[in-house]
This record gives sequence, structure tokens and C-alpha cells, in this order.
Amino acid sequence: MKNRWDPDTFCDFKNNQLAIRVYTSNLLGAEQDLVLHGGGNTSFKGTQKNIFGEDEPVLYVKGSGWDLSTIEKRGFSPTRLEYLLRLAKMGSLSDTEMMTQLRIALLDPRAPTPSIEAILHAVIPYQFVDHSHADAVVTISNTPNGDKHLRQIYGEDVLILPYIMPGFILAKQVAEATSRVDWSTIKGIVLLHHGIFTFADSAKVSYEKMIELVTIAEKFLEKNTTSDTIAKLASEITEKKCLQMAKLRKAAGGLFGGPLLARLDNSLESAGFSNLDNATDLVGRGPLTPDHTIHTKAFGAIFDQNPADDLDNFTEAYQEYFQNYAQDEHHILDCMPRYGVWLNKGMVYLSGNVRTLNIVENITQHTIKAIQLGEALGGWEALPRNDLFEIEYWELEQAKLKSDKDRASFEGKVVLVTGASSGIGAACVNELVENGAAVIAIDFQNEENFESSSILNLRCDVTDSKQVADALLLGVKHFGGIDILISNAGNFPPSQNLELLTDENWDKSIELNLSSHMRVLRACVPYLREGFDPSVVIIASKNVPAPGPGAAAYSSAKAGLTQLARIAALELGKDGIRVNVLHPNAVYDTAMWTKKLLSTRAASYGLSIEDYKTANLLKREVTSKDVARAVSLFAGTDLAKTTGSQLPIDAGNDRVI
Ligand code: ZN
Repeated sequence: MKNRWDPDTFCDFKNNQLAIRVYTSNLLGAEQDLVLHGGGNTSFKGTQKNIFGEDEPVLYVKGSGWDLSTIEKRGFSPTRLEYLLRLAKMGSLSDTEMMTQLRIALLDPRAPTPSIEAILHAVIPYQFVDHSHADAVVTISNTPNGDKHLRQIYGEDVLILPYIMPGFILAKQVAEATSRVDWSTIKGIVLLHHGIFTFADSAKVSYEKMIELVTIAEKFLEKNTTSDTIAKLASEITEKKCLQMAKLRKAAGGLFGGPLLARLDNSLESAGFSNLDNATDLVGRGPLTPDHTIHTKAFGAIFDQNPADDLDNFTEAYQEYFQNYAQDEHHILDCMPRYGVWLNKGMVYLSGNVRTLNIVENITQHTIKAIQLGEALGGWEALPRNDLFEIEYWELEQAKLKSDKDRASFEGKVVLVTGASSGIGAACVNELVENGAAVIAIDFQNEENFESSSILNLRCDVTDSKQVADALLLGVKHFGGIDILISNAGNFPPSQNLELLTDENWDKSIELNLSSHMRVLRACVPYLREGFDPSVVIIASKNVPAPGPGAAAYSSAKAGLTQLARIAALELGKDGIRVNVLHPNAVYDTAMWTKKLLSTRAASYGLSIEDYKTANLLKREVTSKDVARAVSLFAGTDLAKTTGSQLPIDAGNDRVI
């Protein structure tokens, strides 16, 4: 484990202890092998002046909802230390009461709720406490002789405690176990199947102890495994697999209760895991740490010949698991698996939005690696299912998910946008992503147009069928299907009157402004059939209802495109796929319309740029965003009963009217 401590950065903090606390927390957060998605927490004990001018001892502990990789000063909840120490002495405290008391103990009512491990941090008598769920330590712990191995590698330096559910009783357990221990003789505490704590009166020392202890565990794993321990296999993405993914996603929607995203991970390691003889057994044996269950559930699904049909097996197993462990107060969560092994093909992830899908992917990739290392140490032995159930259905963990309940209008939907890098295409991408969509953004120019995990940037020339097919495979592999196609790619060729029109300009315009749309639509139809409320929006032009001289190549192509859309609406209606057409006009905030071109055009009509831009009935400029909003209306469910329509977006044009 790399020690990321940088003395130069450290100097910038001028001994501000909270700033240093933030810094080393971020260092821990930067290593996914130490903490994944909210796993792990840190604290600092200092003092704060109260309103009476008295110094009060304070525990600044990671607040709920913050992640160590990005935590800032305001992410640490200032909590009265003495109050927490008194709570630790109580005989018992229910989860709900503990959370209430943690909020009562806050010095700032606006601060985030302290971590559920706040009382545990309080009882460790050092200024800085670091807690991680380090993969290496937990992996060793999740094996038949894990306890013995850890005692062997750490000797007397580390106190090793059995698994206890996080919260008040864990804090009590640590307090009792350490009451007979001379703290100065131990470097850390390992909680089996959970993680590791280090502590010191200096942030640097506490951080470095963490790195040191985790490195020892990593070296032990290295010594006991070989480069072959982690299986690897090359597995191709094919159209057949992608269609099966789209069908799986659709079927999973029935379990999830709405649209969702799916991903096929065919990386060497994931396909390698899926190819193991006992992959079906391993995927049911449980996670790295129990807190992962809130993202991944307690076990995964097994997909074989027909993944959509295999969902039933998971549902049955999950219902049985619920019935085995549920108490009266529990209500079963949805029965959609969050991950599964697709035998010989790779791992599959399913989740409601991009953020949670990425979390599931990340956790699963770490887990399948840990499982194989654990197997090499004698067998992967996660916590028994009753302990996993206890965390998965723990009210405090479920509370963390509550904020995910309100879904944005396009959450779980996958949109393919062509010509995505600028103008109307880019505006559509931004509009849809703002409303929760996952977007496959394709453009022939640029690969990295958008920096967001909600957007998959793909370089693709839509006039090339092969490139279109390849782009769709990558898109469907990444998000699981296509619900909405926004066919937008196009250009405006140089103005030429008919007798001067060159074959080249004509052919190019027909190719890009008409034929490419047919190719993209044709390739998307099989996926749209498996989509959620599938919809196609075609960007045509005001030139269709109201053509202008000199634009034969453009207007004829766009007229053909409109006809294509009408026929598509006729053919695809039976599959529930809506196809609608927009006719934008005079959208000048696009890459094509440079300031120079605008002023030349305006001057040729004897108008100012402003008058030229607003030369319409409403006297208002039409922007890319206006078009994107109309696109969003057709793409969403508000116009669910409309297909084959054409809508002008032109602020009023007498020739169109
Ligand atoms: Zn923990």
C-alpha cells in the first residue's frame, strides 16, 4: 500500500489540525483498496470554544453521507466528546436512540449526522483515529483460519476482535476489550469481517500505521498466492450478448419497479471469474464487508444461457433469504439482483442510476478479486447470511438509501444522441443528463466531449454502418440498452442553386442528413424494442415545411428524413416505439454559426445581428436549449400518446404556419 503522505502539501496546513484531518482522510479515500463508497471513517479530537468562552472537548467525526475521498472540513461533525463517553458507559441504547443522541451531542445543529461509529471513535484515547475496510485485511479475515493468520502476521501489535454489528454494541465491545489493554503497546485494532483501526496523537503517525498494517496484510496475501490466483479470460462483446443484456434489463425492470441501468463487465478479470468452475457457488457466498449489502444485496445472481429467464431463480432465492431472517418489522426490498455472474462471459451489474451502478461495479470488482485470494488461503468465508441480513435490513443503513427514492424524470433511462459534441446535440445531452438520464454520446469529431460518468463518449462516423454497430455494442454493454434515440447528426452544406449544385455536395448531404439516420435507427430498433417507454426524436428542419432557394441538398435530405420518420412511426407503433420529428429554425448558438458568419448573413439582409437572430413572429431568439427542451418532451412520458408528429421550434414562422 502506497504511502501518499506529501510533506510539501502538509506544510500548507500550518498546523490547523482539522485541515490535516481532512488531508489524511482524503489520502485514505484515494485508495479504493482501503475504502470503497462510504466504507471507513476518521476522526480528530480537539477543543472548540462554546458561547460562554469555555474550551469544550470535541470529537470531529466523519459525517454521514460524506466520502473520505472528497470529504471537506464541513464534512466532519463537531460532537461533544464527554457526552459521547457518557453514552459509551450506558448499558444499552437502541439504534434510533443512539442516532438521536448523536444529533443531540452536536455542537452545530446544521452539521451532518455523525457517523454511526462515532462512539467507538470517542472511546479510542488518541487525537487521530483512522478506520478503513482495507481489502487485504478483510480478505484474510474472510477465510477459515483468518483469525489465526492475522494473529500470526501482526503478533502483539494488533488487537483482534470478533465480528460485531457496527453501532453502539460494537463501541461497547471495543471499550470493554481495551479496558485491560495498555494502548501504548498496540498499533491497531482489527475487527474481523469488517476492517481495521489505527490511532495516534499525530495524523501522520495514525495514517502511516494504517499503511504499514495494511501493507503487512498485502504482503501476506502475495506470499500465499501466485499471479494465476486471479483468473483472466478474454471475452468478446457481440450483438447477441448485447441483445440479451437489453432483454435482461427489461425483465429486471419488472422486479425493480421502473427503468434501470445494466452493465456487462467483460474485463479480463471479470470474464476470468465467470469462467471459474465454481463461479456459481462463489457468487452466493457473500460480500467483502457486510456494509456492501446495501448496494449489492447479500449475494449475486447466476446467469447462463438466457439471463432474462434466470432472474426467477434469484427472486426465489432472495425471497427465501428474506423469509429465513425477517422479523415482523421488516418489509422485503425489491427482488432485483444488483450483480450477477454470467457464466463464461463476465459480470453483470444492475442498478437504478449511474451513480449506484458505478458503486455496484466497483464493489463487485474488488469482491471477485478478494474471493479468489480468499480461495487460495483455504476458502472464501464471508459472514453468515443472518449477519448480512441484519445489515442489509438495518434501519440505519436503509435510511442512507432513502434519499435515492425520488427519481429524476429520466433516471434509469438510456439515451443515444448523435452529433452530440456541439450545438443541439450537446444541449440535448446536457438537458437529459440534468434530468437523470444515462447518455451514449456519439460524434465523429471528438472522443472526450463530456466529463461525467453519466455520459459515454464514443467516436463514430454515423455514415459508416460498421462504426454505428460497434458504437451501439459499446453503449449497450455500458448502460444495458437504449430507450431513446435522438437522431441529430447533420450539417448544412454550402448554399448552391440547382444548376450549380455539385454531385459531391448533393451526395454528401443525402448521406449524412438522410441515410445515416436510417442506419442509426435501423441498428437501434432491436434495442428500442426492449426499451422502457421507447421513443425516437428526429431533428429535421424548418426547411421541410418551408424550403428556401439554394438549399436543395439540405432540404431534400431533411424532407426524406421526415418521411423516414413517418414510416418508422407506422412500422414501430406496434412495438410501442414513438417516433416524432422536430423542425428547428434559426438556431444560431451552434458551432457552425461563428460570429463572423452571423454578421455577414445579418448584413446581407440589412439587419443587425440581434434583429437577424429574432426575425420571427415572437421576436425571440431560438436556442439549442429550446430545442433540447422540446426533445426532452418527446423523449419523456408526458407525450406518451403522440407518435408520427412534427413540431416546429422556430418562435413562429409565417411560411410554416
Ligand atoms: Zn467500518
